[in-house]
Amino acid sequence: MDPMHLLVEELFILKVAFISNMTARLVLALGAEAKLEVVPGAVEFAIPFSTLEDARKVNNRLTILERKTFGKDYQISVAIVGCGYSGVELAATVAERLQNKGVVRAINVETTICPTAPPGNREAALKVLSSRKVELLLGYFVNCIRRASELESTNTPTEVESVETVPGFEKYILELQPAERGVQRKIIEADLVLWTVGSKPPLPHLEYSDVPFVIPLNARGQAETDETLRVKGHPRIFALGDSSALRDSTGRILPATAQVAFQQADFTGWNLWAAINGRPLLPFRFQNLGEMITLGRSDAAITPSFIEGLTLEGPVGHTARKIAYLMRLPTDEHRLKVGISWLTKSAVESVSLLQSTLSKVLSDSSARSD
Ligand SMILES: Cc1cc2nc3c(=O)[nH]c(=O)nc-3n(C[C@H](O)[C@H](O)[C@H](O)COP(=O)(O)OP(=O)(O)OC[C@H]3O[C@@H](n4cnc5c(N)ncnc54)[C@H](O)[C@@H]3O)c2cc1C
Repeated sequence: MDPMHLLVEELFILKVAFISNMTARLVLALGAEAKLEVVPGAVEFAIPFSTLEDARKVNNRLTILERKTFGKDYQISVAIVGCGYSGVELAATVAERLQNKGVVRAINVETTICPTAPPGNREAALKVLSSRKVELLLGYFVNCIRRASELESTNTPTEVESVETVPGFEKYILELQPAERGVQRKIIEADLVLWTVGSKPPLPHLEYSDVPFVIPLNARGQAETDETLRVKGHPRIFALGDSSALRDSTGRILPATAQVAFQQADFTGWNLWAAINGRPLLPFRFQNLGEMITLGRSDAAITPSFIEGLTLEGPVGHTARKIAYLMRLPTDEHRLKVGISWLTKSAVESVSLLQSTLSKVLSDSSARSD
C-alpha cells in the first residue's frame, strides 16, 4: 500500500473516532481497484486496465514488442479478457495501433459484447471490431493463465503447436472454458494479456474506539447506501461512486460509471450541508444522459438517452464525445487546457500522417521508375 493510502487510512480511523462530534461526517469515495485474484495466473501475468499507470504500462509493453518485432514477419498477439466497455475500447484501440502487425483476441464469458450497453453503441462497436479483424471469443471463461515455457517443460499437450516468442519476452497460454455445455475448450497464446474484468472497492478497515466498524457491503464489496447516499445503518457516513451501491426504482444497482459518481457528488455535497444544518436530505435520482464508447483515435459511438434510437458513430461520434467531455469538465480553465491539448495532439497526428503518406507515395513512385 502506498504512503498516501496509508495516510488516508489513518485519517479514516481518526475521522470515525470523531464520529460522536455533532458536525463530523465521513464521505467514502474510494473508487474501485482491478480484481485479478479470481483466476490463477492473472495476478502474475496479466496487466489490469484501470489506472493511468496501467495505461502507461500497456503502452510501454506494446512499444517494446513493436520495436523487437520491427521488420520481422511476426504477429504480436494480444489477448484482452473482458468485453465490457473498457475491454471493447481497448480491443478497438490496440487493433487500430497494431494494424497488420498483430492479432487481437477479446474474450467474454457472455455471448455478446457490452451486454448492458444501448444496442446502437454495441452495433457500432461490433462493426469497428470486425473491420479491425479483432477475434471475438464469446461465451468463454478464462480458466487460467500460464507461461508457455512452463507448458513446454512439462510436455503438457496443447492445441497450440509451436510457440514462437519475441526475444526477451514471455509468451502466455490462456485456457478458455466454454460457458455452455458441449462446446470444446480453447487454448490461446498471447504476448500480452490485458485484464479488464471485475473490480473491488479498496474500502479500508474502520474502527471506532478499538471496536471494528461494520459497513454493510454487497457481494462486489461496495458499501450499500440508502437513497440519501448514507451508508445503511450509519447516518454519519456517506458513500458515492464506484465504492458504493445504490439501487434504482427497478431494483437494479446503478452502474459504476463516472456519470453516476459525478451526479452523486452534487447530492452528497448538498446532503452533507443539510445533515449538519438539520435540514431534510434529498433522495438521489440518477438522470441517465446516455452512453459513449471510444473506438480508437477518431472513432466513437454515442447514444444520448433523450433522443430515442439515435446513435452517432465514427468521426461524428468522436467529435460529439469530445464536446460532451469538455462540457462536463469542472471549470473553463480545465476546458481550455484540455481543448488546447487535444488540438495540439490532432495537429501532430495530422502532420505525421501526412509525412508517412508522402514517404509511401515517394517510395512507391521510385520503385515504379526502377
Ligand atoms: C478504463 C476505464 C474507462 C472508463 N471509462 C468511462 C467512461 O467513458 N465513462 C464513464 O462514465 N465511466 C468510465 N469509467 C468508470 C469511471 O472511471 C468510474 O466509474 C469513476 O471514476 C468512479 O468515480 P469514483 O469517484 O467513485 O472513483 P475514482 O474516480 O476511482 O476515484 C477514487 C479515488 O480514490 C483514491 N483512493 C482509493 N483508496 C484510497 C485511500 N485509501 N486513500 C486515499 N485515496 C484513495 C483513488 O486512488 C482514486 O483517485 C471507466 C473506468 C475505467 C477503468
